[in-house]
Amino acid sequence: MKTLISSDVRLLADLIRKGGVVVFPTETVYGIGASSYNEEACKRIYQIKGRPSDNPLIAHFSSIEEIKSVCEVSEVAERLLCEFAPGPLTLVLPKKNPNIFPKELSTLAVRIPKNPIVRDWIRACDSPISAPSANLSGRPSLTRMTDVVRYFDGIVDGILVTEEPSLGIESTVIGLHEDPPVLLRPGSIESDELKRILPNLVIPNSSFVEGQTVPLSPGMKYKHYAPKANVKLRKKEDFHSEFAKKGLDPKFAWIGFPSGFAESSEENTNLISSPRIRVVTSNLDYTKALYAFFEACDQLGIETIYCEEPKEETGKEGLLNRLQKASEAN
Ligand code: AMP
Ligand code: MG
Repeated sequence: MKTLISSDVRLLADLIRKGGVVVFPTETVYGIGASSYNEEACKRIYQIKGRPSDNPLIAHFSSIEEIKSVCEVSEVAERLLCEFAPGPLTLVLPKKNPNIFPKELSTLAVRIPKNPIVRDWIRACDSPISAPSANLSGRPSLTRMTDVVRYFDGIVDGILVTEEPSLGIESTVIGLHEDPPVLLRPGSIESDELKRILPNLVIPNSSFVEGQTVPLSPGMKYKHYAPKANVKLRKKEDFHSEFAKKGLDPKFAWIGFPSGFAESSEENTNLISSPRIRVVTSNLDYTKALYAFFEACDQLGIETIYCEEPKEETGKEGLLNRLQKASEAN
């Protein structure tokens, strides 16, 4: 298949209107989308990703009005959308229009991406875009154009070229179709911020456990975010001492804060420019770098990736969740 790789919003919207599948960047990660009214095209996304058929897709909209035309938007849902949309927040809402994918569910997960070019494209498609993250099922989401082209050129109808994701992990998902509301997936918008509007938000500990029998959100039942390499999550002191011992071994890779590397031997410190080592400056920088680093490590054939625990500062919640998921998957 010839893939149209272009920044021309009109041409890429034409592909969607003809039933095509298009990869596009959002502020979180890359998505792989089709018209929410074209069941066949949406099902092709499942085939391409190897995604379990009971894991539903998020519908991406260009405005709150469009969301209101297909879902019940309560007063509190509207307040959340006014505060956080466009942005990395997904709400699961009761569905009004039964024709929207997935037809068998009475709820719909909705989100408005931040990049105005992506919103222009969605508007030009004349339909919401149903999209999971653009990656093979279970593997980390993609955050760099070079990786997207390597996986999807020749596989999808088009790739929209615009700004790469700036956040690096998937959106925060809240189930608002039930009372009290539940945090289904942590992300860049943290529960403290959400609790200002949703003081009764339930933050289930067990919701992120792999393989649980009754998942709160279908996506929670499956393996997620894991590279081929083993992932080991380590506290600062342990990260530091293991790096001091094993830093020179080319089987291992390391991602962490400067202090974890600083007191190591001179020989190890010289490694810092190596592609096996990624020094991050903050939780937000760590989050943005994480999936691209996982991907790069898999390209290098790394056996184990050591990850330092996030800091007690902004951005810990979503990052720690993804690191735990990736390390549980081994
Ligand atoms: P991703 O595949 O990375 O885009 O993630 C989409 C997430 O949203 C998954 O965890 C899905 O299970 C969840 N999701 C999508 N639609 C619904 C829905 N109607 N109800 C509950 N969770 C949903
Ligand atoms: Mg995904």
